Amino acid sequence: EKYVYDFSEGNKGLNDLLGGKGANLAEMTNLGLPVPPGFTITTDACRAYLATGSQPPKLADEIDEHLLKLEGTMGRRLGDPSDPLLVSVRSGAKFSMPGMMETVLNVGLTDESVRGLAAQAGEAGERFAWDSYRRLIQMFGRTVCDVPAGAFEKVLDEAKRARGTRSDLDLDADDLRELVTAFKEVFSRHAGRQFPQDPREQLELAIRAVFESWNAERAVLYRRQERIPSDLGTAVNVVAMVFGNLGGDSGTGVAFTRDPATGRQGVYGDYLANAQGEDVVAGIRNTVSLEDLERLDKAGFDDLMRAMAALEGHYRDLCDIEFTIERGKLWLLQTRVGKRTPAAAFIIASQLVDEGVIDLDEAVRRVNGAQLVQLMFPTFDLSAAPEQLARGVGASPGAAVGKAVFDTDRAVRLAADGERVILVRRETNPDDLPGIIAARGVLTSRGGKTSHAAVVARGMGKTCVCGADSLDVDVPSGQFTVDGTTVADGDLISIDGTTGKIYLGEVPVQDSPVVRYFETGEIGDDPLVAAVHRLLTHADERRRLRVRANADTPEDAARSRRFGAQGIGLCRTEHMFLGERRELVEALILADTDEDRQLALDALLPLQRKDFEGILTEMAGLPVTIRLIDPPLHEFLPSLEELSVRVAVAQERGEESRRDRKLLAAVRRMHEQNPMLGLRGVRLGLVIPGLFAMQVRAIAEAAASVRLAGGDPHPEIMVPLVGAVQELETVRAEALTVLAEVSDAPEALIGTMIEVPRAALTAGEIAQAAEFFSFGTNDLTQMGWGFSRDDVEASFFSRYLDLGIFRVSPFESIDRDGVGRLIRIAVQDSRAIRPNLKIGVCGEHGGDPDSVHFFHEVGLDYVSCSPFRVPVARLEAGRAAI
Ligand code: PEP
Ligand code: MG
Repeated sequence: EKYVYDFSEGNKGLNDLLGGKGANLAEMTNLGLPVPPGFTITTDACRAYLATGSQPPKLADEIDEHLLKLEGTMGRRLGDPSDPLLVSVRSGAKFSMPGMMETVLNVGLTDESVRGLAAQAGEAGERFAWDSYRRLIQMFGRTVCDVPAGAFEKVLDEAKRARGTRSDLDLDADDLRELVTAFKEVFSRHAGRQFPQDPREQLELAIRAVFESWNAERAVLYRRQERIPSDLGTAVNVVAMVFGNLGGDSGTGVAFTRDPATGRQGVYGDYLANAQGEDVVAGIRNTVSLEDLERLDKAGFDDLMRAMAALEGHYRDLCDIEFTIERGKLWLLQTRVGKRTPAAAFIIASQLVDEGVIDLDEAVRRVNGAQLVQLMFPTFDLSAAPEQLARGVGASPGAAVGKAVFDTDRAVRLAADGERVILVRRETNPDDLPGIIAARGVLTSRGGKTSHAAVVARGMGKTCVCGADSLDVDVPSGQFTVDGTTVADGDLISIDGTTGKIYLGEVPVQDSPVVRYFETGEIGDDPLVAAVHRLLTHADERRRLRVRANADTPEDAARSRRFGAQGIGLCRTEHMFLGERRELVEALILADTDEDRQLALDALLPLQRKDFEGILTEMAGLPVTIRLIDPPLHEFLPSLEELSVRVAVAQERGEESRRDRKLLAAVRRMHEQNPMLGLRGVRLGLVIPGLFAMQVRAIAEAAASVRLAGGDPHPEIMVPLVGAVQELETVRAEALTVLAEVSDAPEALIGTMIEVPRAALTAGEIAQAAEFFSFGTNDLTQMGWGFSRDDVEASFFSRYLDLGIFRVSPFESIDRDGVGRLIRIAVQDSRAIRPNLKIGVCGEHGGDPDSVHFFHEVGLDYVSCSPFRVPVARLEAGRAAI
């Protein structure tokens, strides 16, 4: 195995092995750009070192070999007392982790070689050499020997104070020589050893320190945040030093080939004369613009412009660069395809198409759904520096401001009066739906990203922060407390559904022009909107997956159509049994006789029919998958506690209600330890006579009446929670009978959800009774892993993320290996029986960028997601197909 690559041996494709920085240094070297010579130690070596605690046996020899070659190229030896070669030792992982790992500059300086450097550097040599040496001791001390940064800074500040200055530049050679002495003392005091005078030992220790910095606390944290795998390791670049601190004709800077915030072309960057790299980042002195560089050093500026043009031409993208000018000569120390804001990503991709640099396929590949999500939500203007109260899980993005209200009815009333409201609950349940709809945002202290509040809010594009467990929510008295602050009913709060942050008072918000475009279809002259329109249109042309929406109201149906949905993949019907219809559900459950039951069903039928008419009308010409009722029925009944109290109080007063007593008995009877694994879905249909038949009839009659009114309805009937083909066969037979009884009804496909592992494993059989499948990946994940989607995200997921058992919650992004395997099996086995079985997915994963690629790969026909995620799914489906 080879552990060390000369820059001339690598290229930008080798970033796994050489890290981003090393791979790009190699690429630039081979392009003939001015890169100081050097070599890269691979991430393999780092991983071996971190695994064993010592360097791989052959590494030292390989380093010696490359060092010798470098010395040959430079005509100098590392740390030579009379004319030393100095090197920098720089970290560089596959994914950029800005500032998270270590770098040591000026390696090779010793008490002797500092004099050689001074002698070689000419006029300003003394000052420059001692300045370089003190920097080495400082950086080496911090990085290699954990000397606290403050210890050096204190001494440096004292030196500056003694000179009566605040700038390093005013320290002369003598000051710096004394500073070196003082720094060496600081070093030996903290490190318990003298500063090493053997250049090769310095190099050795610096390399180890860079390896180890992979596991520095902040690097670990950063990786978790950015979802970068923790086992990649970093490469180490050993590069011949060039100096920006050799006087006024030297300097260092950063440059972008385009403005990373707007994509605007032109010179963009900062420059600092007479300085080394870390001075720019540290903000020690004020930098100047690149326009100023043009005045200071025209030749250097022109070289930089030429290099930037060459880089953009080669990478065909925005690049950022670190450069140094040493006595008028330009050197490139780093480049990479630059990070940019989501808006700039779209604008730049579109610009590059206009410039003929890339084609539309490439442009679509260069943006992603996560960026589009960011562009769709209003944001807080944080320049107002609001007071942060607490932080929960950002469950549904957006920025919402309103009065904290703890009660659903009150939320509805206040909203009706035109008030902005944030509904605050410990957790929400289906009863809170009216409050959620009325509120600007939802805040809960319990539950994760797939808790009821989160799923419902996301479905509506409503801002939601959930699981803010530092909040002590006291619903009865209408207040919450956090860290000694009490927020009472009516107090203004602001919640950020992207970051999960909660603020006291009103934080100003900014609207999203991208959503305005989706709503109206108007492009106007906003370059961002034009770019989004262009790339999304192209993604639509390329994608194979169709995109539908999860919607259960005519309003949502209409919106999802505006957002580009090609039908409804999941119309949940349970929301239609709330409010005043609750009584009818109670009557249905309490019915003792067939007659009473039929009366309740008869009363529900016209209401349900009307629901469907609205949705089928909005979705004219497109399929609408209506799912028969799914949740356990006790969700529609009062809670056991509430009812027990009501009955007890009534009894005390001697005004007992027979109905309540009966209801209480029913609630007791229906109580389940594990309702998610209990009487729900298809099981309800098989146990409660007439319930599914009523729903099927409502669908058929609604479709018939929409058609008679000139509409073009395409209903599909979907049975939830099927685990055995017999379940589906029974429901299907009943449904076919009902459909045959309704005249003028258009044809309706009958299919099933695949959301129980057994359904996936017996998909071949189930396919014989189904005209379509839709994967319910919420339940399939819940049951596949055996953990509750309502509880676990708040309880142990963060630990699992820490341990690396998850890279991301499996409720958010499909678990390809486990749940994904069930899906593959089901697709394969069912298509073997019915080659043109229509298969989709309607769990939350349908709108998750990474999952969309998976669903494309396994050959689904469509994904279905909440209306607000439809554009994201369109984009990602296009990217998956390109
Ligand atoms: C699912 O389980 O993925 C699904 C879509 O159904 P629900 O979320 O309503 O259980
Ligand atoms: Mg389900």
